[in-house]
Amino acid sequence: MTATLPSPGPGALSLSGSSAAVVREVGLRDGLQSIATVVSTTHKIEWINAAYAAGLREMEVGSFVPARLLPQLADTADVLAHAKTLAGLFASVLVPNYKGAELALDRGADLMVVPLSASHAHSLTNLRKTPDEVVAEVARIRALRDAGGNHTLIEGGVGTAFGCTLQGEVAESEVLRLMQALLDAGADRVSLADTVGYADPASVYRLFDKARALVGERLWCAHFHDTRGMGLANAYAAWQVGIARFDACLAGIGGCPHAPGASGNVTTEDLVFMLERMGVSTGIDVSAVLALRQRAAGWLSGETLHGTLWRSGLPRAFAPIGPVTAEGAV
Ligand code: ZN
Repeated sequence: MTATLPSPGPGALSLSGSSAAVVREVGLRDGLQSIATVVSTTHKIEWINAAYAAGLREMEVGSFVPARLLPQLADTADVLAHAKTLAGLFASVLVPNYKGAELALDRGADLMVVPLSASHAHSLTNLRKTPDEVVAEVARIRALRDAGGNHTLIEGGVGTAFGCTLQGEVAESEVLRLMQALLDAGADRVSLADTVGYADPASVYRLFDKARALVGERLWCAHFHDTRGMGLANAYAAWQVGIARFDACLAGIGGCPHAPGASGNVTTEDLVFMLERMGVSTGIDVSAVLALRQRAAGWLSGETLHGTLWRSGLPRAFAPIGPVTAEGAV
């Protein structure tokens, strides 16, 4: 049987101008924040170096939250400082509030992700603010950035966009309203996150399609969790709509603190393989990512790792697409 490559979604072609996608490694933040193991700064730097050598050029390297809340990420400033020494590496951090933003600006992050939860119940529990109070905080962060003449980009990350463990359903209209409000408040970009793994390909297609129609290319990234095994299918659905940037996590670590053993973000190596196998250039050497996964397993002993590609290895005829060209990078 002759395999034919599925063509990428028409939107993807019109958005990027070529068949290329960016995978942002978020394991150093989203993955590590949800597991008990504290990975040393030395090993985080090894992780970044190996991911960079494999071709990854965007990474979320930590979060500026108080160390007493997330000791796993207490060394974010040091990890970021190292990331900034690698030419062409676009380093993001998560900032939950104004104070975190001050640190991100001070340390020269390329981008800061400000999370907003579209679920009011989740927002009050996790951020102790309503979604609209987070929007107001983004306006203050934007004013701070502009006053300092700083170039750090602001991404508003709309989480629980597909549902919430506390609230249940989250209305699409509310997700879209908050996304627009973030941009109006001064966010440079917005992204949509399925924080708890409730999305399915149909809901992803529908919401991302509406979001792109509303805000165009300022819709920056798709962030999926593989909690219920839908991660790759959801990424493909977003690709069909024209999304060409995805968050992913080495070995799929992370998960949900309320569901022991649950998988975290979509797995980096599996996502890169899917895209490259589809003929979409990521610029990432999936073999090198698999090798990194094996090293990381040593730093994460006792933690549950996820993903599928590592079990079977690459198909015999697999050929990577090659590096992302300047025109192809989005
Ligand atoms: Zn996440």
